[in-house]
Amino acid sequence: MLKIENLHAEIDGKQILNGLTLEVGAGEVHAIMGPNGAGKSTLAYVLGGRPGYEVTQGSVTFNGQDGQAIDMLELETHERAAAGLFLGFQYPVEIPGVSNVQFLREALNSQRKARGEDPLTGGEFLKLAKEKAALLKLDMEMLKRNVNVGFSGGEKKRAEMVQMGILDPRLAVLDETDSGLDIDALRTVGEGINAIMRQPDKGVLLITHYQRLLDYVQPDKVHILARGRIVKTGGPELAHDLEREGYEALGEEVGA
Ligand code: ADP
Ligand code: MG
Repeated sequence: MLKIENLHAEIDGKQILNGLTLEVGAGEVHAIMGPNGAGKSTLAYVLGGRPGYEVTQGSVTFNGQDGQAIDMLELETHERAAAGLFLGFQYPVEIPGVSNVQFLREALNSQRKARGEDPLTGGEFLKLAKEKAALLKLDMEMLKRNVNVGFSGGEKKRAEMVQMGILDPRLAVLDETDSGLDIDALRTVGEGINAIMRQPDKGVLLITHYQRLLDYVQPDKVHILARGRIVKTGGPELAHDLEREGYEALGEEVGA
């Protein structure tokens, strides 16, 4: 579903991704862990096509909404979204003057349009939004407020998961979705990810620093990203080893 090969990328002439290779199969959840500054968020931004992030080598192939393999790096950000890519941000942005409901309906309907589907009516959309908000235990009143304005860290992350539920992507790249969550919110978000994304035709890249989220969202594989590439891949036990021993114990290649 996602195949990243020998990816090199730079920001302002500074090389950050340095030969990153990674493959996520359909139906799989992969966790990415790694020291601060390793390039985890950069990977998420490059996949999303954020301006300023220049790919200098390598390829990203994605089996999008219709299952066809596409060269993701050729697409604009909105085309990647329409093809079924969702990015959950480490730091969700606030958008004063735009309500969540307006924003989400606009986003969903523009994606539906790009796929040749009919837009949802106001009523149909609200029904869908209520269902997803309930799944993430987010009060519908929050969705009527401006996007993320005055939301706590945990509320922003829940709102992002509601957004994911509504857009129903094929591939979700979630950047530290667990940061800033209390214990209950962590469980809700973990269960939300499972409910929305644990399906045979979907895939997840879960960037996280902690084992806790992985207790809820059991990863098929765990990768360690250090110095711009994947330096180690293992099963769920790798996350437990890291929690216990830290990155340095894994050797010079991994240590920050
Ligand atoms: P991680 O998410 O793994 O902590 P990042 O991908 O955010 O790491 O950052 C990787 C490296 O890229 C860091 O050294 C960071 O300082 C650098 N970096 C990120 N954004 C920029 C930028 N806009 N300009 C220059 N360097 C950047
Ligand atoms: Mg980061």
